[in-house]
Amino acid sequence: MTLDDQDVHLTSPYTDTGYQYKVQLHAHTTRSDGSHDPQWVMQAYGIIGYAAVAITDHDYRERTTPTLDDPGGHAIVHIPGVEYSANAADGSWRHMLGILIGSIHHADGWDARQSQIHRTSAEAGLSFLCHPYGEQVHPRGWTTDACLDLQGYSGMEIYNGASCGQAEILACFEPAVDRMLVSGRRLLLIATDDFHTDMDLGYVVINSPAPPQALVLDDVARALRDGNFFAVGRMDPEAALAPHFTDIRVEGRTLTVTVDQPADIEFVTARHHAASAGGTCSQRDTGVSGACYTVVPQDRFVRVRGTVNHGGHEAHAWSNPIYVQAR
Ligand SMILES: [Zn+2]
Repeated sequence: MTLDDQDVHLTSPYTDTGYQYKVQLHAHTTRSDGSHDPQWVMQAYGIIGYAAVAITDHDYRERTTPTLDDPGGHAIVHIPGVEYSANAADGSWRHMLGILIGSIHHADGWDARQSQIHRTSAEAGLSFLCHPYGEQVHPRGWTTDACLDLQGYSGMEIYNGASCGQAEILACFEPAVDRMLVSGRRLLLIATDDFHTDMDLGYVVINSPAPPQALVLDDVARALRDGNFFAVGRMDPEAALAPHFTDIRVEGRTLTVTVDQPADIEFVTARHHAASAGGTCSQRDTGVSGACYTVVPQDRFVRVRGTVNHGGHEAHAWSNPIYVQAR
């Protein structure tokens, strides 16, 4: 949706909400280093209310749709995917997800990542940089330069459940995302379980007009490609359920957000980065069920973070960015 208002132009991925569905975009199975086979993983996510799951084993594409015979009749959509290691021989942790892929592309070396992004795009797939936690956490993590070197990827993980409870690692994710947004990149922001043993820590919620029982892969793909979803993550295993955005709406130059439980709603923009590195966000409303923010041309982007904090245990929802262009 695009709306004009005098001297700024906002581009938002959010259209009418319709129905909302939980989707897992990063899950391992016994095809790589996961703990359960693909069918078990699909069924387990179905039982806890997920509508779709991408099986993303390391450098392996699950070629068949796992059959589902869950007696509860939980239908669940299988999204074809992979987690690329590229030059796994060096133990690299600079992993990438290929989602909605038709095939996987094996290659070695740094250049492999760029060719895998191109190959994924050519198949109308999406590519995401995984756990962008930087060299200070892991010597082969995603540095800013490494993220800037690559072109054409769809987005990044803003949360990865395999890091759940590791505050110093999770603290790297949002700054990594914001550095890319400030540089002018347009990114989709996903949260994932990176499932090996623990479920329902990080996921995305897609908006779709397709009613329950009628949801198919095309519907999921459309919402993901359009960015009509938000990311959700619990920062440690004790955290309560995260807030969900029930609506994210642009009218003129004002962004209006509602959530399904009282939460702190923050609007993060490029402006606050210019003012103070690691400083406060542009606006914060505490313990509310909704909030509004009016952009200025210097914002360049706005993304929304919703937070609940029970006894020091935080859980978040993160919107995709809404882009601001001066006219
Ligand atoms: Zn993984």
